[in-house]
Amino acid sequence: MILSKLREGVSLELDPAARDSIRVLKAIDFELAYLALLTLQGLKPMSRWEKPMDEPGLEALKQLGLHPQPIRRTVRMGTAFEETIFGLARGYLQAYANHFANQPVDKSAETVRIEGFLFGYPPCCVAQYVKQHYAPNEFPTHKQETLFHWACKGCQITPLLVPAYEEVRRLVDGC
Ligand SMILES: [Zn+2]
Repeated sequence: MILSKLREGVSLELDPAARDSIRVLKAIDFELAYLALLTLQGLKPMSRWEKPMDEPGLEALKQLGLHPQPIRRTVRMGTAFEETIFGLARGYLQAYANHFANQPVDKSAETVRIEGFLFGYPPCCVAQYVKQHYAPNEFPTHKQETLFHWACKGCQITPLLVPAYEEVRRLVDGC
């Protein structure tokens, strides 16, 4: 009884306007819509779309209250490009912009740690990833695929996240 009440309490509802915004994002890319809804649900303090975004996508993110912001990055060979960050947590967006704007893309341990923190990945998984990328874990592939981080072996946090991620994914599917 309590469990069913709890379940009701955490189940996600989207109003028609939010549904429309999710559809716009889904038309751009399913993964973008999924990231937006995970972020809206508070499962990620902020997210990054590694591409520039046109007005309809920016408008949809704004409608959802996700404060999209373009960030200029460079790559080693010098060509600048634009990525888009968004989230409810404006302090995290600010921290990301302060640290990464106009900076080259890199995969250093420092970057993995900072991104992991800002994107809401479990700290144990981030620490393991810094030590060894994609270390074997016992996670079924179909569960791993719903995540944006690589679960560490024996992770105690990822199993808490998976049902919430799956629920968000179903909701995006249904939009
Ligand atoms: Zn972990």
